[in-house]
Amino acid sequence: MARRLEGKVAIVTASTQGIGFSIAERFGLEGASVIVSSRKKRNVDEAVEKLKKKGIEATGIVCHVSNPQQRKELIDKTIQTYGHIDIFVSNAAVNPTVDNILDSQEQVLDKLWEVNVKAAILLLQAAAPHLKKGSSVILISSIGGYFPPAKMSMYGVTKTALLGLTKALAAEMSPDTRVNCIAPGFVPTHFADFITRTEEVRKSFEDKTLLKRLGTTADMAAVAAFLASDDASYITGETIVVSGGMPSRL
Ligand code: NAP
Repeated sequence: MARRLEGKVAIVTASTQGIGFSIAERFGLEGASVIVSSRKKRNVDEAVEKLKKKGIEATGIVCHVSNPQQRKELIDKTIQTYGHIDIFVSNAAVNPTVDNILDSQEQVLDKLWEVNVKAAILLLQAAAPHLKKGSSVILISSIGGYFPPAKMSMYGVTKTALLGLTKALAAEMSPDTRVNCIAPGFVPTHFADFITRTEEVRKSFEDKTLLKRLGTTADMAAVAAFLASDDASYITGETIVVSGGMPSRL
């Protein structure tokens, strides 16, 4: 494994399992000190232990991204421990409803906006003064940001917002910080357990891709590590779709 992130300090939100955990692990294996976080302390402690067993320098901080005090602690404790931030990955998202947009309750709409979009902005407001020259921000969107899917349509729209947020923040944070985005396809995680409910369902999702397989969390982490590294030093404001060739855009 290349050590492209040696000496870097990386925060990854919602990183105690799934895509976030794999990103933290990959960053750590490439030499970064990683700060993992999520809502539940037990999950945070377990994730830190797993990373440390692999020789990774890891710190765990409980942070529900909608909680202002915990957002502040995430940034403050990172700075107390490491002094600065090189990489910030905003990965947290929820999908609390299968209702159509026009049938969605106001508090559901608020929650989707709060967790999937607003919390990312507020965390970046807090992190920005500590981001070093040459730093990298990565937002985790979704293939659903291009075509909001039935049953997850408002979730998809919040992911579309992240595509715009990537462009807007790339301009605001230039030239010292690059801001890019990853739009994963189907990755069988707890969040997306519906895609592997039966072999038949799994196959139907595999068949939606050109590569005829589901994505892995490692597929997503590899792209995140590329974007965070100097190999992507002339890329900003872009979204990389990592979906095995699902329809997205020309
Ligand atoms: P996952 O495996 O279910 O993991 C979710 C992680 O988020 C857990 O560590 C969980 O830990 C934490 N979490 C949940 N709510 C949180 C909150 N409010 N604040 C902080 N942490 C929170 O999910 P995933 O599939 O890896 O999804 C990660 C990202 O990828 C999301 O942005 C999702 O939209 C995106 N994505 C996923 C897919 C897919 O197919 N899996 C496709 C496209 C996009 P706690 O329970 O301890 O909080």
